[in-house]
Amino acid sequence: MIGVFGGTFDPVHIGHLRLATEVAETLRLSRVHLVPAAIPPHRGEPLLDAATRLDLVARSIADEPRFVLDDREHRRAGPSYTADTLAEFAAEFPGEPRVLMMGMDAFNGLPDWHEVDRILDLAHIAVATRPGSQAEGRAADWLAERRVDPAMLADAPVGRIVPVAITRLDISATTLRGFIDQGRSLRYLVPEPVVRHLSRG
Ligand code: ATP
Repeated sequence: MIGVFGGTFDPVHIGHLRLATEVAETLRLSRVHLVPAAIPPHRGEPLLDAATRLDLVARSIADEPRFVLDDREHRRAGPSYTADTLAEFAAEFPGEPRVLMMGMDAFNGLPDWHEVDRILDLAHIAVATRPGSQAEGRAADWLAERRVDPAMLADAPVGRIVPVAITRLDISATTLRGFIDQGRSLRYLVPEPVVRHLSRG
């Protein structure tokens, strides 16, 4: 099974990388594709341009053989819809089931994503704990209906939801962008390549 982990990564931080690491370990994934969004459909213009966000993810995961930088959303025109990304994965890796990885805050927003039913027909979903978030509303109903333990995920090809407890790291890119704005250091909250990039000014 392969992991698909999308985000704006503006910038990538250790909360993202621990999520990918711990979910991959718990679900015994063969690899995780990190898929930076080119034109995120649910938010405003990122602080860092697309090429920089991609490059910082690439340099941050260079020593982790199970992680793959996946720039497909940058090669596609228009908004970066996850349903389209998962359809491409299904076509490209037909023998490998996919699990879409996300934090609880993103999961709570999932009911509003473009073509969410198609997403659930194309992949499983792994939801990682995130400080301050628990399942709410329609997302909580889906979790109740579709929830499985990690060991049972392989029993269905798509459409199951597996909660994964990960180390709680109360870091968000929004907070980090505030630090950048105030001229504060990001060291030890982000991978060293991000620190180096920002210190170049
Ligand atoms: P922003 O503050 O700009 O919204 P973010 O830090 O939430 O950014 P995104 O790129 O939007 O990062 O998130 C990508 C994915 O990573 C989402 O599924 C989100 O839930 C998850 N995520 C981000 N930070 C954490 C964290 N500290 N712990 C667990 N999950 C996280």
